[in-house]
Amino acid sequence: MTIDENFLRLRKIVRMNGKYVMQKLFDDYVTGPITKKIIPSCILCGAEQKLTKEHVLPKWVFESNAKHFFTTDVNQLSQSYIKATIPACQSCNSFLLNGIERYIQRTLSEVDFKKRYYSPEEWGNVIRWLEIIDFKFQVLDISKKFLAHKTAGYVPAISDFSIAFMRDLSVRSVTSKARLALKRMGTKNKEKRANSLIVGEL
Ligand SMILES: [Zn+2]
Repeated sequence: MTIDENFLRLRKIVRMNGKYVMQKLFDDYVTGPITKKIIPSCILCGAEQKLTKEHVLPKWVFESNAKHFFTTDVNQLSQSYIKATIPACQSCNSFLLNGIERYIQRTLSEVDFKKRYYSPEEWGNVIRWLEIIDFKFQVLDISKKFLAHKTAGYVPAISDFSIAFMRDLSVRSVTSKARLALKRMGTKNKEKRANSLIVGEL
């Protein structure tokens, strides 16, 4: 599959299943009863079978290093990138997302800024890829519990709330941010987004 076909397929999946996937995500982690039994499902198509662990940040970005971590702003707890995963079905993970990863990895390593910059198509695809990562981080924040605060410790009354909810303390804000991230993935044209992308070389 070419990269254009990959992104086209992604947009189709998002447009077809996005509404259902979002609603289930909100019901499971933000608006539904705390005792609700959650059935894991693919973050793109909603499938409940053949689920795999999709890394929020691709392994090659953090060089598969289990020690690399990020700190969640809301509770100041650290989490390794290697454990930051969300469910994706085998088909979405292996055939769709992996194909996009391979293309991005190749593009980022091949383009030598001393000789040329990215083509408009490559820019667009890098933005599309970053939008997928943004969406995945939002899903992670919605589906992860607050648990405890690094300094304040465990507070039973809030430990079960979603990280995303604790950040904004507003269901409306959480749902509209996630819906916007999903909408971006379903939109082809990225011209308006190109002015906010900065790329550098070390
Ligand atoms: Zn899927």
